[in-house]
Amino acid sequence: MKSHPSKGRVFRRGEAGFEQAVLGTSFTVRDPVRRPHIVVQANDVYEVMAAVRQAAQDGMHIGMCSGGHSWAQNHIREGGMMLDLSRLKGIEVNSGNATAIIGPGVLAGELNAEVVKHRLFFPTAHAYTVGMGGFLLQGGFGWNSRNVGMGCQNLIGIDVVLADGTLVHASEQENADLFWSARGAGPGFFGVVVRFHLKLHKRPSFIGLKTQVFRIQHLEQVLRWADQIGPQVSPKVEFQIVMNPKALLINSHGMEVVAPVMADSWSEARELVSFMTHSPVRKLSSLHLPLIPMSLEFMMKAGEKTLFLSNTRWSADNMWMNDPIEPLLPAIRRIADTQPPHPSHVLWLNWNGPASRPDMAFSVEQRTYLALYCGLGKGVDENKHVNWATDHMKALESWSRGIQLADENLARRPAKFVSDANMTRLDQARAKYDPQGRFHPWMGRLATQGT
Ligand SMILES: Cc1cc2nc3c(=O)[nH]c(=O)nc-3n(C[C@H](O)[C@H](O)[C@H](O)COP(=O)(O)OP(=O)(O)OC[C@H]3O[C@@H](n4cnc5c(N)ncnc54)[C@H](O)[C@@H]3O)c2cc1C
Repeated sequence: MKSHPSKGRVFRRGEAGFEQAVLGTSFTVRDPVRRPHIVVQANDVYEVMAAVRQAAQDGMHIGMCSGGHSWAQNHIREGGMMLDLSRLKGIEVNSGNATAIIGPGVLAGELNAEVVKHRLFFPTAHAYTVGMGGFLLQGGFGWNSRNVGMGCQNLIGIDVVLADGTLVHASEQENADLFWSARGAGPGFFGVVVRFHLKLHKRPSFIGLKTQVFRIQHLEQVLRWADQIGPQVSPKVEFQIVMNPKALLINSHGMEVVAPVMADSWSEARELVSFMTHSPVRKLSSLHLPLIPMSLEFMMKAGEKTLFLSNTRWSADNMWMNDPIEPLLPAIRRIADTQPPHPSHVLWLNWNGPASRPDMAFSVEQRTYLALYCGLGKGVDENKHVNWATDHMKALESWSRGIQLADENLARRPAKFVSDANMTRLDQARAKYDPQGRFHPWMGRLATQGT
């Protein structure tokens, strides 16, 4: 079990260390200007329960934070209490029945490092430093999720501190409506999850990556091909395209077509990515690499070192798409033409999920996914680029079939993130479990209609 570098304490506005206690939680270094009145850095479950009771007594709203990777900094709200759960880092693996119990402050990479010792697997977030707390609640598009299900689908139960400070367990059998809500409510969940009970999987025998790089001039041809071939690509392959101003090896504006694959053998994996080897657009590529075996840890760290840089002011937005890509191509070309400098990037993801999922709050997904990540380093003019992601998503709203909470920007652009029926159920569960509205809801939301 990894411990946090410092013991948690309480900071009030104006006290020395308060600013660091607030802003230091956040992956993006943008200052949201919002500030809570008090920050409680909980060291254990009992401190969480005490903090929630204190907030109730003082009539304060509560915002929660596990790994602090919300692009929108959902946990930093104006006024009230910020409950920092990053020190709740326990990991207990039971290899006998392939389960684990983890604290919300466990990072994706830390969980992966622990389960690999048992030759087990969990669909964690793709970047090493993402907190499992927020990741699991919003759905969790993890490694191999097309095959083994979303992170939240692999939850067996949760331990939750409710608005009155009591600790309850929730699962499909116990407090089922609370468990149902936790699997998809994301940054609007109305309780503090202090432990997640996970179902683990056998570790795939082969993990690797297939890569091709194209110059941006070939955008339309490559996207047309990808969109067409997507439905035939095996769920064991995470087929995606990253538009990067500094694409791999060509070091200029291009598209990295990447396909992480998890299979039972190298030969199976090679077969699964052969759609790239034999693709009609391959001849346009500037770089074509063979399938390379790679550890998950390496891929997680490499992603953060090349694309998801820290010390960067990030803003993101996204949309699900269901229609063929052709009519959207002019708008996607405009996205490329206006793309801010590296590490800003655009992700097109082949999702094509399963025909059905268990009944849970998570309920909006479509064929393909488009996400824009604006990442501004030191010295880059924020005013010029800060609305890039959201403005382009607004322009494409008539094609949007909703958003992922993973890359939400609801305060700037309310959008649909669960089905209408599920939003009604979430409102009912919130009224039951948090009748006084102790926990902050989503920063913005689209009411039960529209996209
Ligand atoms: C570099 C990077 C890579 C990413 N990769 C992926 C990916 O591969 N797949 C994917 O699905 N998403 C991905 N995300 C999105 C990420 O999963 C979400 O931002 C998620 O909310 C992050 O969890 P966190 O605990 O780090 O964030 P936090 O900012 O701490 O949490 C976000 C919100 O979740 C709620 N919350 C968090 N913990 C708790 C808790 N214990 N109890 C109750 N509510 C809580 C709070 O409302 C909080 O504001 C990525 C984000 C980044 C920045």
